[in-house]
Amino acid sequence: MIYLDHAATTSVLPCAFEAMKPWLDGSMIGNPSSIHSVGKQASVAIEDARAKVARLINASPEEVIFTSGGTEADNLAIMGMYSYLLRQKNPGVLISEIEHHAVLNFKNYLPINGVRTATIPVNPDGVVSLDFIDTVMRNLNDRYDFVSVMLANNETGVIQPIREIYELCYEYNILLHTDAVQAVGHMPVDVNALGVDFLSLSGHKFGAPHGVGALYVRRGVMSALSGRNRGGGQERGKRAGTENIAAIVGLGAAAEWTAEHISLDILFYQCLKDVFVETLHTELGEEVKINGSGQILPNILNITIPGVQSEALLLMMDADDVCISAASACSAGSPKPSHVLTAMGISEEDANCTVRISFGRTNKCEEVIDAAKLLAKNVKRIRKMYH
Ligand code: PLP
Repeated sequence: MIYLDHAATTSVLPCAFEAMKPWLDGSMIGNPSSIHSVGKQASVAIEDARAKVARLINASPEEVIFTSGGTEADNLAIMGMYSYLLRQKNPGVLISEIEHHAVLNFKNYLPINGVRTATIPVNPDGVVSLDFIDTVMRNLNDRYDFVSVMLANNETGVIQPIREIYELCYEYNILLHTDAVQAVGHMPVDVNALGVDFLSLSGHKFGAPHGVGALYVRRGVMSALSGRNRGGGQERGKRAGTENIAAIVGLGAAAEWTAEHISLDILFYQCLKDVFVETLHTELGEEVKINGSGQILPNILNITIPGVQSEALLLMMDADDVCISAASACSAGSPKPSHVLTAMGISEEDANCTVRISFGRTNKCEEVIDAAKLLAKNVKRIRKMYH
C-alpha cells in the first residue's frame, strides 16, 4: 500500500508511541489532579509535554491549553471569546472563505447569536485578500473585534500572510486567531514572529495520535478566554475534564522530535513532491495543473486533471493500493465541490476533477514514483472510457 494522504492523518512517530506506552500498559497511572505522589507524576508528565509543545511554537508553557484536537482548539478560540465579543459594541468577526469547517461553520452560527461576521475572500492563488481586510478594518463604523485566518490551507497547502494580517490587526486593536493544524510539522511556526493571539494545532497531523491537540493563547489574552466545558478546573479552568495523559505525552514527544527534525523534513517533503510532479508530467505527456501558488506547504500537492472525475480516479487508485484524497478528509463524502477551490475561482467542474496528494516521513522516493505512474495510467484509462 502506498499512503499519500498524510494531510488527513499521518502515522504516529515511534518516539511518541514509546512515550505513550507506559501510560497505556498500566506501568504508569495517576490522575494529574490527585495530590499524592502518583498523581504528581502524572501532572509532571503533562507539564513536560506542555513545555515541549510550547518550545515547538516558541510560546511559554502557560500559554498552551491541551484539547482533544484541532476542531476543539478552533472552537475554544472562538467560543471561548464569545463573552468578550458580546461585551464589545456591535461585535464582529472576520473569517476567511477557505477555513476548515471547524472555523467556517461559525460564519452562520455567530450572527444568530448576536455577533456579525464577514468573509474574507481569496485570490485565484488561494491567498486571502489583504486589500479586503485593510478596507474592512478602515471602516470604523462597522469595526471588527476578532479575525480568524488559517496559517496554511488543508486542501491546497497555500500559506497565508498571517504576519501582514497581524500588522493590520495591531493597528486596529483586533484579536487574531490562526488555525495552524496543517502548518505545524510542515513549516517553522513561531507565535511571536506571527504575532497571533491564538493558534490551533492537532497531534495527528505531525506524529502524535488522534484526539489530542492544543490551543495557544497569548498571555495577555488568557484571562479573557472562558472555558467551554463545565466541570473541574483542569487546564487552569480553560478546559475541564481529566486529561488524556497518554495522548498528551505522545503530543509532547512528537513536538520535541518535530522541533529537531523539521528542517530536514521540509527538504524531504519538497523532494517527494517534485519527483511526483515530474514523473506525472512525463507519464501523462502534459503539464500538471497545480492549484495555488506563492508559498505552499512542501507536503501538499493539489492538482486538477480536467475531464477526470476525482471520485473515479480515487477508486481506481485505491484498487491499485494507493491512497490519495479528493478534498480534505473532513469534507470527503460531501457531494458539494470544495469550498476552497470554488473560492479561488475554480469552476465546479474542475473542482470535481481535483485530487490532493500529501506526503509524509514514512514515504519512500520509489513508491512516490510508482504512485505517479499509477495515477497517469488511471487518468488515461478514465479518459479512454469516457471520451
Ligand atoms: N483545521 C484544519 C486546517 C484541518 O485540516 C483539520 C483536520 O483535517 C482540522 C482543523 C481539524 O482537526 P482535528 O481532526 O484534530 O479535529
